[in-house]
Amino acid sequence: MKIQILGTAAAEGWPALFCNCDVCQRARALGGKNIRTRSATMIDDQLLIDFSADTYGNALRFGLDLSKVHTLLVTHDHEDHLYAEDLGTRYTWFAHLNETSPEVLTVFGNDRVGFQVARATAPYGGPGGRVAFRRVVPYEPTALPGGYTFTAMTALHDRAQQCYLYLVQDKAGKRMVYGHDTGVFTDDVMRFLAGQRLDYVMLDCTTGSEKEGSNHMGFADDLLVRDMLRDAGCIDDKTQMVLTHFSHNGHLLHEELEALAGPEGFSVAYDGAIYEI
Ligand SMILES: [Zn+2]
Ligand SMILES: [Zn+2]
Ligand SMILES: [Zn+2]
Repeated sequence: MKIQILGTAAAEGWPALFCNCDVCQRARALGGKNIRTRSATMIDDQLLIDFSADTYGNALRFGLDLSKVHTLLVTHDHEDHLYAEDLGTRYTWFAHLNETSPEVLTVFGNDRVGFQVARATAPYGGPGGRVAFRRVVPYEPTALPGGYTFTAMTALHDRAQQCYLYLVQDKAGKRMVYGHDTGVFTDDVMRFLAGQRLDYVMLDCTTGSEKEGSNHMGFADDLLVRDMLRDAGCIDDKTQMVLTHFSHNGHLLHEELEALAGPEGFSVAYDGAIYEI
């Protein structure tokens, strides 16, 4: 499985859109891995998780062909995870599909995601045309094209909607967890994951040097979740542990995060980073 993280910032981006704080100024000056856009992750060039407004720009930046994508898993409808308006451009006139492109892109998510997909695609005939919507059922494995299976797990995040984390398994049995936006993994998530070996785990590190755990996570919370996963038999020394979803309010620039996270066995994601499992 090839996992490419397209965007590694929290909602405001980093440097944040209208911010002039010290860490945003430093990120602007340093550039490179310190320039972070909003969430989306591509699996094997055919399965997307989250779809922020930066997805179009990142497709250009990283040379991606989104016509091949058959599935979009959306964690929740916060604007840094879903920019539904761009789904309209998959309809006739805007997009010319051929035999290499699936006829339908299926979007999975909660009710609010469904509402946004319906609103954004209404001018083109609504869901059921070239973009379909399916409401996810937590903890129920769902088969996808290409031999993938995914399971939605309940995140600890916005209390006004049920936000999801995703476990994705490929036909070779490799398993990855998309673990943001969330606080510390809940008992339900841990009960479901217990005993399942994971090859790759992406964790929320929004608050960086600040401990949080009830809505997002800081590095101290990530260490706690790592230990929980190890105790539950999910991870071992071969599991790739990756931090992402960073905010300027977490204070730490890329190199500073690496200095903190590397010795504890985590790698620090940056926009466009590719991982193989
Ligand atoms: Zn977010
Ligand atoms: Zn800032
Ligand atoms: Zn969120």
